[in-house]
Amino acid sequence: AQQQGRGQYQFYCPEIAAQLQERLALENELYGALERQEMRVYYQPLIDLQSGELTAVEALVRWQHPTLGLVSPAKFIPIAEANGLIVPLGEWVLRTACAQSRAWQLAGFPAMRMSVNLSARQLEQPNLVDMIRQVLAETELEPAYLELEVTESALMVELERSIDTLKQLQGLGILLALDDFGTGYSSLNYLKQFPVSLLKIDRSFVQDILSNPDSAAVSDAIIALAKSLRLSITAEGIETEEQLEYLRQRGCHEGQGFYFSRPVPAAKLTQMLESCSQQ
Ligand code: C2E
Ligand code: CA
Ligand code: CA
Repeated sequence: AQQQGRGQYQFYCPEIAAQLQERLALENELYGALERQEMRVYYQPLIDLQSGELTAVEALVRWQHPTLGLVSPAKFIPIAEANGLIVPLGEWVLRTACAQSRAWQLAGFPAMRMSVNLSARQLEQPNLVDMIRQVLAETELEPAYLELEVTESALMVELERSIDTLKQLQGLGILLALDDFGTGYSSLNYLKQFPVSLLKIDRSFVQDILSNPDSAAVSDAIIALAKSLRLSITAEGIETEEQLEYLRQRGCHEGQGFYFSRPVPAAKLTQMLESCSQQ
């Protein structure tokens, strides 16, 4: 509403003010959360859509807050990205996930990839490659079992440097995946320059793949694109059997979603692995 001739006036929206307040409070507490050992890594399985085998797990961070309970990364990752805390936090997630992956191998479970998210801020760190090399050495995980997920938008921040960094990581033998594919700049021109081996179809397309022809068309196109570039393809956010069937019939290789399992603590995943290998 435009109220003219009234001079200056300000908007005050209680909802926005409350959101800001919450964000500030979270940010203050986030600074010590790692030292207070409030962070957890959860693991979500990725399933081969043809064989049904568990081929990989994605490491997803959680914040076990003393009073708020389990805080979603959607709430604190953006804050950690803005203030730089994502750098130590991301390193901690990587180390924890690699150590866990090695522990599962030593326990005799079949080999699977460990997928870890990498933020734009981490990509900018000049010592990123050294840090990752060191974590692999410390945890004794073979690089071929580590997969790093980056988003297109993270890569576009400093394109040339990012490509160079990815090439160094690839040189170590690490696998690279493009996360949230289809939501970013979708610069197909750049896609062939990224040394990635896997595309992840974003959850937003999978969600309404059966009801929205546009989402189906985008998913079909991503699958076709991945095939012609000889990239592997994973669909995120599979919640129903129908979504699973649609994707499987179109040749999508892997799936991840609540239909198979939510992200769970390591102990819970160990139980799942035990019951899988008994079959
Ligand atoms: P993402 O990398 O796209 O991770 C997939 C998200 O989809 C996860 O949310 C997962 O729980 C959720 N998801 C998986 N299957 C389903 C499903 O069937 N239905 C629905 N509704 N959701 C599903 P989560 O764990 O809340 O993480 C949100 C985002 O936070 C991640 O999105 C990622 O961008 C970021 N994140 C999480 N952990 C880390 C981390 O360690 N480092 C960085 N840089 N970012 C992280
Ligand atoms: Ca991811
Ligand atoms: Ca994703």
